[in-house]
Order: sequence, then structure tokens, then C-alpha cells
Amino acid sequence: MKAFDIQKIRADFPILQREVNGKPLVYFDNGATTQKPRQVIDAISHYYSQMNSNVHRGVHYLSQISTDAFEVTRRKLQDFIHAKHEHEVIITKGTTESINIVATCFGRTFIGEGDEIIISAMEHHSNIVPWQMLCDEKGCVLKVIPMNERGELDQEAYKSLFSSKTKLVAFTYVSNALGTINPVKEMIDVAHSQAVSVPVLVDAAQAVQHIALDVQALDVDFLVFSGHKMYGPTGVGVLYGKEDLLNAMPPYQGGGDMIKEVTFAKTTYNELPFKFEAGTPNIEAGICLNEAIDYINEIGLDQIKAYEDELLAYATAALAEVEGVRFIGTAAEKSSVISFVVDGTHPYDIGVLLDKMGIAVRTGHHCAQPIMEFYGIPGTVRASLAMYNTKEEVDALVVGLKRAIGMLL
Ligand code: PMP
Repeated sequence: MKAFDIQKIRADFPILQREVNGKPLVYFDNGATTQKPRQVIDAISHYYSQMNSNVHRGVHYLSQISTDAFEVTRRKLQDFIHAKHEHEVIITKGTTESINIVATCFGRTFIGEGDEIIISAMEHHSNIVPWQMLCDEKGCVLKVIPMNERGELDQEAYKSLFSSKTKLVAFTYVSNALGTINPVKEMIDVAHSQAVSVPVLVDAAQAVQHIALDVQALDVDFLVFSGHKMYGPTGVGVLYGKEDLLNAMPPYQGGGDMIKEVTFAKTTYNELPFKFEAGTPNIEAGICLNEAIDYINEIGLDQIKAYEDELLAYATAALAEVEGVRFIGTAAEKSSVISFVVDGTHPYDIGVLLDKMGIAVRTGHHCAQPIMEFYGIPGTVRASLAMYNTKEEVDALVVGLKRAIGMLL
């Protein structure tokens, strides 16, 4: 493992050297997507200039090297999340598609009228809407784990939501809008200790780039995340599922690659993981995600988390000094997301003014409208930190925020 060298890390990300609106870019929208290191960018160029070919099909050289590289990523992902089997790693378009696969294939097969699905009050829309669509279709019922003012899930209420009709639990590891880190292992244990063990889906979209994941230690049934939030390319993500569950589910889409044999009378489906990977995947993204995982592994998630935790504490203390700032999401366990509102201002106006100073933050509901409703606000300003951010950038945010507030009030 390399020492944590922030200047070297920053030098690896070409976009961090550019200016925006005549000011050095300060990028604090990492929860939406992270920037990419040179290693990933170069791999994409290398793929198209030296390897481009379809995977899992051709006998020719280029198809074989592309297929091998694509499968290297799958094995890398298996190690990264410590899955028992390589074929438990389904390569998808991203978190949203992965959740939709489970809602469609597991949901339509194992969830019926009157059955119950438990989600939490702090879900991203992509972990709400697919379940609502299933409920509309099947007549099943959505139950929601409430949270307190700090943005922590009520664990006692969670336990009381289970009934003999509960068929699935789905919740986020880290909230993209609040930064809360949920007690995932404990919550999985609660679901598994019901009279009939209830499977659990964990949305790790905001965890995978900050916290080391071990699906076997967690004993999680499904785990989903996106490549673009972990310094990798867009258009690729993961659905991890336990082998027996994935085997029991029908395919998601029909097409090439997911079949064993097709006649007009009958089609037999391919084995895992290909059963869930119909059609040509995003080959370049799949292959180049490998570089992003290598990049993270070389630095090590323990070092990354330690650095980001320090930065989070620094940024939280610095922003707390700014008059009028009110934090939304003050859980005891937090990842590097800081959401806040400023009394008397609209988050959008703050975001626009910060942008003029080269500072990229997110404003709005962050695809989590129920959270905003809970707090009775239209949205927040969100600064989400990554391993390449610095205390100097936090200082620039504080100065910029004070200027913005001065202009608005
Ligand atoms: N879940 C969470 C917690 C997220 O933060 C996001 C992205 N903001 C998603 C799901 C959806 O991810 P994607 O758009 O990459 O599918």
C-alpha cells in the first residue's frame, strides 16, 4: 500500500488542474459523480485504439483480449467486495439498473399481493420507485423505516415493521443527501433473524468509494453500486447477489449472451452471470473500471476513509462557523457528505454564486425528495468530499459561501 500523498493523488486527476469561471476548480460534487484519474482515462483511450471488439463472442484476437479484460474486472470486483463466487458479480449499467433487476426479477417471482417490502426514509429515488412500481403491479405494500432529526434510522421502529408478510428489505448503506452511515450489519442480522429469514438489498452507491465492503461478512443478499462514483467510467455498475437467489430469479432482459440455446419453440437460459447480462455491455467501461479499482486498492480504503474523515471533521467545523448555516444530517456515523441550508437563502442561489467562484456543489433535493419533505425544506446545498479534496479547498468553500451569503442577504 502506498503512503497517502495528496499532491500526487491530485496530480493523477487532470480535471483538477483546470479553471472554471477563471478560478481554480474546487470540485465538491463527488456524491453525484467522481472525477477520473489519468489511469482510467488512458485505459479508455487504449481500449479504443488497441482493443475495441465485442466480448464473449468472437474467436479472433481482439475479441479474446477484450473478453479477458472484461472478465478480469469481474474477478477484481469479486475480490473488492469479497464475493464467494465470480459469477455472483453481475455487471450492469449502474446502481439504478441493478435495483431494477432485483425489483423486477426477484420481485415479480417472490413478492405477491399483500406482501410487504421494507425500505427506509432516506432512500434515493432509485431505491423507492422500482419498489413502488412493483407494488402497483403486484398489490404489495411498502413500509418505511422512520428516521430522527439527526437523520438516523429508528432501529426499534425497524424491528417492529417486520411481519410474516415481509419479503424483502432494501436500504442504503450511506445516504447521499445526509451522509448517514447506517448500521448495515446489525440491520441485516435483524432481517435474517425473523421466523423466515428476509433477504436484504443494500444500496452501496455512496459507500463503495469510502468504506471497505465484504459481502460475506455482512451476509448481505444483494448489494449494488455504480462505477462512476468510484473514480471509474460511467455506464457500468454491479449487482452482487447470492448465488442461490440469482439462480432462482428469471432473467431481466432477453437477447444475446443470456441464452444457452434458442429455437422458435423454446429458449434455455445461460448460466450466471450471463443470464442477467443480455446484449452488448458497456465494454469499455467494464474493462476500464479495472483501473479504478486498482487505483483505490493501491491507496487503500482504510487510508482513504481516514483522510476523508479528517476532512469531513475539518469542513464541518469550518462551515459551522458561518452565520446562518444549518446542517441537514448530523448523524453520529457520517460519511463525507455535508448538506446544509442557510437561513433566508435558497440553496439554488448559493450554488449558482459558488459556481461563479469555481466551486462545484450540488443543490436541490438530491433525488431524495422524501428527505426534504421530512425536514420541510425545498432542498439543501451539498458538498460531498472525495479523497482528492483538501483543507485549502474547504477554506475556499467557506470564503465563497460567506461572500455568497453577503450578496444574497
Ligand atoms: N443510490 C444512491 C444512494 C445514490 O447516491 C445514487 C446516485 N446519486 C443512486 C442510487 C443512483 O445511482 P446511478 O445514477 O449511478 O444509477
